[in-house]
Amino acid sequence: MDTVNYLDKILTSAIKQRASDIHVQPERESFNIAFRIDGSLYVIDTLLKSEQEEFISRIKVLSQADITESRLPQQGHFELNFEGKIYNMRISIIPTLYGEAVVLRILNRDDILIKLEELGFDDDQLSAMNRLISSPYGMILITGPCGSGKTVLLYSILNVLKKPGKNILTLEDPVECQITDMRQIQINEKLGLDFVSAMKTALRQDPDVMMLGEIRDAESARMAVQAALTGILFFSTFHTLDVPALVSRLLEIGIPNSIAAQSIVGVVSSRLVRKVCKACGEAHQIDDYEKRVLDGINLEGAKFRKGKGCNACNNSGYYGRVGIFEITSFDDEIRACIIEKQSFSALRKILEQKKVKSLRDAACNKVLSGVTTAEEVVRVIGSPF
Ligand SMILES: [Zn+2]
Repeated sequence: MDTVNYLDKILTSAIKQRASDIHVQPERESFNIAFRIDGSLYVIDTLLKSEQEEFISRIKVLSQADITESRLPQQGHFELNFEGKIYNMRISIIPTLYGEAVVLRILNRDDILIKLEELGFDDDQLSAMNRLISSPYGMILITGPCGSGKTVLLYSILNVLKKPGKNILTLEDPVECQITDMRQIQINEKLGLDFVSAMKTALRQDPDVMMLGEIRDAESARMAVQAALTGILFFSTFHTLDVPALVSRLLEIGIPNSIAAQSIVGVVSSRLVRKVCKACGEAHQIDDYEKRVLDGINLEGAKFRKGKGCNACNNSGYYGRVGIFEITSFDDEIRACIIEKQSFSALRKILEQKKVKSLRDAACNKVLSGVTTAEEVVRVIGSPF
């Protein structure tokens, strides 16, 4: 096998198929190449074990990793120019029983920089979102699991906010997309520039708006809260699933109730659902199971669609993804509930009473309009029964 050519072929084919990641999976007697497309992993080739080492070495050379090291995890990156676009490849290597497993994440500026109104917000949500981000100060947190569109949402927001006369600072690891008119800081822990020390300095840079890639520990949470209370509009992501879980996590890491309640102006939960393939999608009659998934939702005027699978969509029936969101704007009632240390079921009840459009509502709306399917709602949100 000509390794150099083969890898080139894999990289370009991954880009053409809109893969977000390429996986190299060592097995006992062979190794697999797999692509993650729209959130699902597909094995696209299986190769001889004897070719594994050379293939991985080639990736290491490209990404400036150490080719003599195969027992420790490594990271690296390289850029690829394909059809006039620059793709940033970030590589992670980890030794496994059958050799090194490699994941190449493919980042492209055009996939990250999407207009806020094109992310999938319903009209009422888009107005709520615009109101939220026009707050003069306070903390706005984006929650959701890995790969749920949090970073894309953050960049879209910053793109709306950036204008001359506004000092926007971001602290990121990695900087996934370079944007003009704001100051992006790449965290470099090897050099000692960790989130906490970068935050300390950034706060002295007189920012109006700040974005921290992720709140991961007590120290960065404390600094974020402090920034939000001193007049900065502060954005970050937080690895929890919903508002009560987020509040309880903040309290757990030592943020006092009153401070948590006062600093947060809003929380946006984000998920991605796959869109029905345009090439093979057709009108669809829902069955009893799908009716149960949509239980309680008004089905009047619904235009259900489903893809039967074609070449364009790898026979999955889906092509591309769109965001679904739940936006919670904090008001006096929610704050009081947190300050008075009421139970989280009480908080959940208040949120329900406020009829905040839930992730499920947002997802079901997209089923009614034929954008996605009941099956996707269950995959992303979970079964309602
Ligand atoms: Zn299709």
